[in-house]
Parts: sequence; structure tokens; C-alpha cells
Amino acid sequence: MPGYKHPCRYCEKYIPADSNLCPFCGRKGPLGEFRCRKCSSPIEMGWKVCSHCGLKLEIPCPSCGKLTFFAEICLECGADLPAPAAEPPRK
Ligand SMILES: [Zn+2]
Ligand SMILES: [Zn+2]
Ligand SMILES: [Zn+2]
Repeated sequence: MPGYKHPCRYCEKYIPADSNLCPFCGRKGPLGEFRCRKCSSPIEMGWKVCSHCGLKLEIPCPSCGKLTFFAEICLECGADLPAPAAEPPRK
């Protein structure tokens, strides 16, 4: 099946399966589902908190200051978002 394409998870346009950047919206990492940066559970755009661990999914971007969905990058300016602070290891 030539030309099999996947939807960009940001703009939902169909793009080649090996895309590193979406050619439509220019965001990186357009394929695959969003995962919680803390517990790795699947999350969906628009959620306010992770359904598994309660991590806040609506955060102010450190780069542009706008509230953005906590994916790998800011949906407003495309800056990389830092991973949440790791919890201290339990001993
Ligand atoms: Zn896109
Ligand atoms: Zn989580
Ligand atoms: Zn931003």
C-alpha cells in the first residue's frame, strides 16, 4: 500500500509515516500518541490533568508564557518543554 499516511497529532492532517516534522504545521514529533511526561500513560490534547497520575497538562510555556498543552513542545511557539521534575527516588 504505497502512500499510507498517518494523521499529525497536532493538526490532524495526513503526513508520511516517517515524518520527523509535520509539513503542514511544522511541529516536530507529529506522529504517535501523546504520553504523560511523568507516568507515560496515554493522554489527549485538551485534558487538564493526566488521568493516571494527575500531572497538570496545562502549563505556562517557559519560552512564550502562554498556557499550553504539556506535550513535548509548546503548541504556541514550538519551544521544547522541560520534563516535570523527577520525584526523589525512594529508598
Ligand atoms: Zn501538523
Ligand atoms: Zn501521568
Ligand atoms: Zn511557547
